[in-house]
Amino acid sequence: MTPSIALAGLALAGKPPPPPDLDAVAAGLLGAALASDEAYRELAALCDGIGHRVTGSAALDRAIDWGLAEMTADGLSTRREPVTVPIWARNEARATLLGSPARDLPILALGRSGATPAGGIDAEVVVVGSFDEYKALPDAAVAGKIVVWDVPFTDYGATVAYRWAGAIEGAKRGAVASLVRSVTPESLSTPHTGVMGVEEGKAPLPAAALTVEDSMTLRRLAAAGPTRVHLEINAREMPDGQSANAIGERLGRELPEEIVVLGCHLDSWDVGQGAQDDGAGCVMVMEAAALLAALPVAPRRTVRVVLFTNEESGGAGGKAYQAAHAGERHVGVLEADTGAGAPLGFRVDVGADDRPDLEGLARLQRWLEPLGAGRLEPGGAGADVGPLVAAGSAGLGLINEMSGYWRIHHTHADTFDKVEPAALRFNTAAVALAAWWLAEGDPIGRLPGAVPGVEPP
Ligand SMILES: [Zn+2]
Repeated sequence: MTPSIALAGLALAGKPPPPPDLDAVAAGLLGAALASDEAYRELAALCDGIGHRVTGSAALDRAIDWGLAEMTADGLSTRREPVTVPIWARNEARATLLGSPARDLPILALGRSGATPAGGIDAEVVVVGSFDEYKALPDAAVAGKIVVWDVPFTDYGATVAYRWAGAIEGAKRGAVASLVRSVTPESLSTPHTGVMGVEEGKAPLPAAALTVEDSMTLRRLAAAGPTRVHLEINAREMPDGQSANAIGERLGRELPEEIVVLGCHLDSWDVGQGAQDDGAGCVMVMEAAALLAALPVAPRRTVRVVLFTNEESGGAGGKAYQAAHAGERHVGVLEADTGAGAPLGFRVDVGADDRPDLEGLARLQRWLEPLGAGRLEPGGAGADVGPLVAAGSAGLGLINEMSGYWRIHHTHADTFDKVEPAALRFNTAAVALAAWWLAEGDPIGRLPGAVPGVEPP
């Protein structure tokens, strides 16, 4: 090597490379995301190769290993961070409408439901359409009965309150079980599970979701005369177990101590394949990170994928991650957890006390507009990144078109075939662009004065 070439090399090494052109890289990411079916291929592998992944299952452990292997293959450095999780076992649950003719009612026990005594219970139902209607009943109308919460879907947050609190309210007045109308605006006789609230130190009532159709039938029959149901639920709360958050990251080139989290939850309910909730969100963030990992120069900040565990039945993954990383600076945290419908934009979350500076995101909005995803509005970023936002991070929650979502949410029908490959490409592109902005652009600004937040599902 001649001295002049060596000196030229030294000079180059001492000079930082020019910063990447924000818009040019965004255009490249958009093109690459729209040209790739990698996220769709990964989702097929997760759904068909592993299946549903409830907390505590061997399938969830396999999914964590799978996620780590995929992210390693995509050039991210990976690790498994242990999380202690609550474990609940569904076991068998069945309900029969007694009388003439008797018939079986398809049900799904609610997560954390208690069990009926051996052999089950036979009891009359008392059907109510709201908490107000329930409160107006005398105690004698509830004691010894099965409370049926026949509450039509309005929005997820308002309606899910009955799934959450129905069993607690029933127990306070001596009901023997709680049945809730499935939380969905449309139904083809499909029960929808989901977690329910349990009061500290109290044994939970047996509780399950009915189909919308059967809930409405019970209301009609009970209005006409005493109506009895046989209910047998063998669900059980187990000792806590071990799970993990799966992490994959690329260190930032200038500000490696500033972290951008791209999050989803890898656990699902133990029905269907957990395809839209939330396998789709996981492959979106994994593939977006893979595109950032493939850039010749690393983004300024560290990009870190977190496949959270235990979102559905306790949120232990999100809480454990925040506790373990409380000393780090999370400048932006993104979550994808509202299915795989077309992307519409992002909820921007700076916590309860401030409102986000949406004008500061105008450039990101311009990148998103060709995807039809330019909607930016204040709102909750997501359940898993919630603890990080509460601790001061700024969040983005992917907004999806949801007309096809609620009817399959938490059911046997949340399967891979419902996911449209084109919509998944658009979602992956939207997440990649948002991740690029968080990792390279200005941090999300906050303005004083709260906005009434929209809670994410
Ligand atoms: Zn979810």
